Amino acid sequence: MKNIVILGSTGSIGTQTLEVLKDLSGFNVFGLAAGSNKEMLKEQILKHRPKFAALANQEAAFALAQEVDIPVLSDVDGLCELACHEEVDIVVVSIVGSAGLRPTLEALKAGKKIALANKETLVSAGHLVMEYADQIVPIDSEHSALWQCLEGRNKEEVSKLILTASGGPFRNYKGSLEDVTIEQALNHPSWKMGGKITIDSATLMNKGLEVIEAHWFFGTDYDDIEVIIHPQSIVHSLVRFVDGSLIAQLGTTDMRLPIQYALTYPDIRTSIVPELRLEQLGALTFESPDFDRFPCLNLAYQAGRIGGITPTVLNAANEVAVAGFMGGKIGFMDIPRIVEKCLADHEKLDSPSLEEILAIDQETRVKAQEFVDTGRMIRS
Ligand code: MG
Repeated sequence: MKNIVILGSTGSIGTQTLEVLKDLSGFNVFGLAAGSNKEMLKEQILKHRPKFAALANQEAAFALAQEVDIPVLSDVDGLCELACHEEVDIVVVSIVGSAGLRPTLEALKAGKKIALANKETLVSAGHLVMEYADQIVPIDSEHSALWQCLEGRNKEEVSKLILTASGGPFRNYKGSLEDVTIEQALNHPSWKMGGKITIDSATLMNKGLEVIEAHWFFGTDYDDIEVIIHPQSIVHSLVRFVDGSLIAQLGTTDMRLPIQYALTYPDIRTSIVPELRLEQLGALTFESPDFDRFPCLNLAYQAGRIGGITPTVLNAANEVAVAGFMGGKIGFMDIPRIVEKCLADHEKLDSPSLEEILAIDQETRVKAQEFVDTGRMIRS
């Protein structure tokens, strides 16, 4: 029996992980942790009967502790304690944002296997976590696909990693992206995901962050990581080998598949997800991304190539800008503008420590928030 802890159990990946675990033998829900969603966590506790729970929000944790019969840990310390508990085998890190950094690093140091869905961990701290590369498996569909395509291959055989992107809701949008609404941006054509990542898919920043993740996961140069638009989201990514041929991984557009594979690896097990039937799809299409219309993709490549602290700045500025857009304060195209402004005047720093990462992350957020507060003024 493998004991699982889910950090971020109330989010999109967390809830889907619980769905997978419900029908998966050999796994036990040991601990559930969330940010502040006390009511939903309580429901999950009653349904899945973990031994421990944790909430990052202290007040919510104290309140929950009165209502359930298991220990409720609190704060980031509580999340770390839960992730590092000696009985834990696998930690699913599906927490959104930089709050996932410290618990992930501590769990790795404690020898835990990490099923990673938190982007910040690799984007900001890739150089720190990849010391523990053999303990980390990806959940993100693209990285799971690349990982499966690369299985058993040598580095010398590989020519390019090719990440697929759906292109988001604005792939064929004819009007100006300056004035698109939040509702339009949230209307993702193929994936059902949380709000922040859905906006990131619309700007292509999500793909940019995934390029940086792929760089760390697979130790691949940025010149050898490509992005291709594939609106059907059936081919989850591809590897080009030195002979020019491609190996692709295809699957139903459902995160429960890569989540399950991350847990059962190296075994493939039966799934609750409907099987992929190619004859029902008709056509799979591919096109090059439009770097001019979607500047976030370029910004991410640039930040990744600079490396060090720069991807942290990219990510923090983007998170604040996306929240500003979702709050109706800025326009869609202000997101890349704010990111660009924050990147333009940050101080470069190689191999930052966790403390430096968290400090610069915070500093960048303050700066980006100032840009957000000035609203739609920042047209270049
Ligand atoms: Mg993805």
